[in-house]
Amino acid sequence: MRMANYTPMIQQYLAIKAEVPDAFLFFRLGDFYELFFEDAIRASRELEITLTGRDGGAAEKIPMCGVPYHSSESYISRLVQKGYKVAICEQVEDPSQAKGVVRREIVRIVTPGTAMEGRTLSETGNNFILSLFAEEGGYALAACDLTTGEVYVTHTRAGASTILEEAGVYAPSEVLAPPGMVKLVEDEAARWPRTAVVTAWERSADEQAVLQFGAARLDELPDSSRTAVSRLLGYLLETQKRSLSHLTKIKEYETEQFMVLDPFTRRNLELTETVRDRSRKGSLLWVLDKTVTAMGGRMLRRWIDKPLVQRSKIEERLEAVGVLNQDLILREEIRTALRDVYDLERLVARICFGTANARDLTALRVSLEKVPIALQLCRESQSQTLRALVADTDACEDIAAWIASAIQDEPPVSVREGGMIRDGYDPHLDKLREASTGGKQWLAELERKEREATGIKTLKIGFNKVFGYYIEVTRANLSALPEGKYERKQTLANAERFVTPELKEKEALILEAEERMVGLEYELFSELRTRIAGENLRMQKLAEVIAALDCLQSFAEVSAKRQYRKPQLTEGFDLQIKEGRHPVVEAVMPGQSFIRNDTQLLQDRGTMLITGPNMAGKSTYMRQVALIAIMAQIGCFVPAESASIPVIDRVFTRIGAADDLIGGQSTFMVEMMDIRVMTERATPRSLVIIDELGRGTSTGEGMAIAQAVIEFLHNQIGCKTLVSTHFHELAHLEESLSSLRNYSMTVKESGEQVTFLRKLAEGAASTSYGIYCARVAGLPGEVIERAYALLSRFERREAELARETGPALEAADRQEAADNRQVKQLSLFEQTDDPWPREGKLQGPTARERA
Ligand code: ADP
Repeated sequence: MRMANYTPMIQQYLAIKAEVPDAFLFFRLGDFYELFFEDAIRASRELEITLTGRDGGAAEKIPMCGVPYHSSESYISRLVQKGYKVAICEQVEDPSQAKGVVRREIVRIVTPGTAMEGRTLSETGNNFILSLFAEEGGYALAACDLTTGEVYVTHTRAGASTILEEAGVYAPSEVLAPPGMVKLVEDEAARWPRTAVVTAWERSADEQAVLQFGAARLDELPDSSRTAVSRLLGYLLETQKRSLSHLTKIKEYETEQFMVLDPFTRRNLELTETVRDRSRKGSLLWVLDKTVTAMGGRMLRRWIDKPLVQRSKIEERLEAVGVLNQDLILREEIRTALRDVYDLERLVARICFGTANARDLTALRVSLEKVPIALQLCRESQSQTLRALVADTDACEDIAAWIASAIQDEPPVSVREGGMIRDGYDPHLDKLREASTGGKQWLAELERKEREATGIKTLKIGFNKVFGYYIEVTRANLSALPEGKYERKQTLANAERFVTPELKEKEALILEAEERMVGLEYELFSELRTRIAGENLRMQKLAEVIAALDCLQSFAEVSAKRQYRKPQLTEGFDLQIKEGRHPVVEAVMPGQSFIRNDTQLLQDRGTMLITGPNMAGKSTYMRQVALIAIMAQIGCFVPAESASIPVIDRVFTRIGAADDLIGGQSTFMVEMMDIRVMTERATPRSLVIIDELGRGTSTGEGMAIAQAVIEFLHNQIGCKTLVSTHFHELAHLEESLSSLRNYSMTVKESGEQVTFLRKLAEGAASTSYGIYCARVAGLPGEVIERAYALLSRFERREAELARETGPALEAADRQEAADNRQVKQLSLFEQTDDPWPREGKLQGPTARERA
């Protein structure tokens, strides 16, 4: 089909569509946004709206669908949420003035990373767009949340995987990458918590960046970071096509400033969402979040995403949490003051963006009025951290006063219909209002006079948008009206409406005054909004202080409610927890039923090998250790009687393939790749958790790999390691690895009942546990006997194998270690700190039974 055959409007459409091939083009036609051609077909499917056709000059009808202008926002956000881009094309001249086709332009492109409104934005989460940059020897990342004005930047000399891992932390909804990197990013993004669209992008906005952030600030950044920021800004300006004055401050950081948590570990520890259904409920965030402001909620999530590694910084937070934890009244007062603080960051962003209405300004005023109370409480508190936090904080009281003097207490949603500005704010507006009030009085007077003149008591003056002011007389009274003076305008079921020349004349005056009033109000409002936008930096700083205060009170609140204790941070190696609990499992269990367990990972016993049957509590225990360390390093108290935590640089968790949800790829392969990363990156300060390693392959191989990995971590890295395994045979490693200790999760059997005690005990679990169960289940005696015989044969073989592969031991030592092991195994149940009364007969099988 040749272009020339189309109507001029469709030609215009095609020309504009060519600018945005990768976006849905919402083409404004009167009160609708219309979509055409392929866009229409896809959108009708995605949005479930009717597909129609339109004559466009060609032989066949052009596919078309449309959404009403006034409800377009929800359609746009639905598309954006699905990862699409939407270009909004408006009529940019008055249709009545236009010669030929009305001029149209794209005014904004809404993309997943640049959505400013709608359901795409969760209040307590950020919506980040990232820009990545790669150059010889380094990578940079810039991240921005357009809705809050935050801009972060970091760079690294390490490989691409470091920067991609960092990118995942932001859970971005959109990533800009150099064309050569797109594929790489897309592959990585498949592992991120939410879907991200990846766009090839390299256009910079260098001059704008200088205007926006200042030359001095940009000069401080390494070149790669600067480029990442500049490209990001280039994209934002090109899609938003408007001022982004709220992006003013770049926060630079080094990835080493925070504990490193790879995406897999984050997911597996369920820091911000659960593995099963990706819900917030059931995550660590869910337990810890007692924030009362939206920006506090978002900051808390960032704190959990980025635990600290600088001891002094952690201790600062802990100090404040300690004071707030102790002082219930102070905490309650702060919570009360913060409760009325709206989302300052997003309000300020909307103000700068020019989309804020008068209600937003009122929300800002209400918030700013509460802020001084919260700041004062901090200033007077016992906490040095809180005092320092608010020391130079500008409460922006002048801004609150501006709004208070200008904006009504309960302004309307629309900014185009007046009713926003207070009396006494602007003399000119007051005059117009007087005139309008005068007009209304005149109307009341007219109504009185007309009633008198006609004798119709029910005569009234009314107004509607189509006919303007009118005189209404009920049908029954029509005969009382004199002829000639009244012009009939509208007939209703039981009344007639009339106008008079006098009324028409006054109407023109009244309506003109109102129109001018509405126009003036809009002007005054916009002027105020622009003035406030100019103060955005001050308000953003304030928002950050409020958010931090909210996080600290949240930690204190949850710590008080759940009896968490202040952890001790150390520079040493030893990690010790007394009566630790899993914060989330505990929270979903009734009462005090969670069983507490100690942890000791010491210099000379830094590896724990935990055996025990399924469901015994091994995973819960290992995760609990990691979560306690993470909680300590974000500055929160921990679920334990006491905890001494050396600063951990990195947590790795690796779990066996059966639990792995990554589809498609060989799960075993994924597991092995994860292990590779771990062996490359773990340091002596790292904490490694390995749950059921090697399950994805045959027993022999799986065990071989498991043993090799444990030996490597133990001998080459020397990190703190927690391993759970169902290969009881690995227990012999205690003989060859000097700082490995065997533990088990204890169970109690009574008859056919198995009770999980969830208590950690030293020594490996009984290897014959499975066969014992088989016996309890009533398998024939011959089968049981045969099984025991086979088992001891396997064990002998394993032990021989271990002797061959493990470091050489003196024969005597070996014998002694083997004896010890047996003693441990046999005394397993006696050793436990059993909360239930013991029933003698229900121990594991005795040595004689096994023989
Ligand atoms: P395993 O890893 O040994 O198969 P899990 O750690 O998955 O076992 O624990 C199984 C279940 O036992 C958990 O879902 C939890 O409900 C419960 N559980 C685990 N540890 C404890 C504990 N210390 N106190 C009470 N219940 C626990």
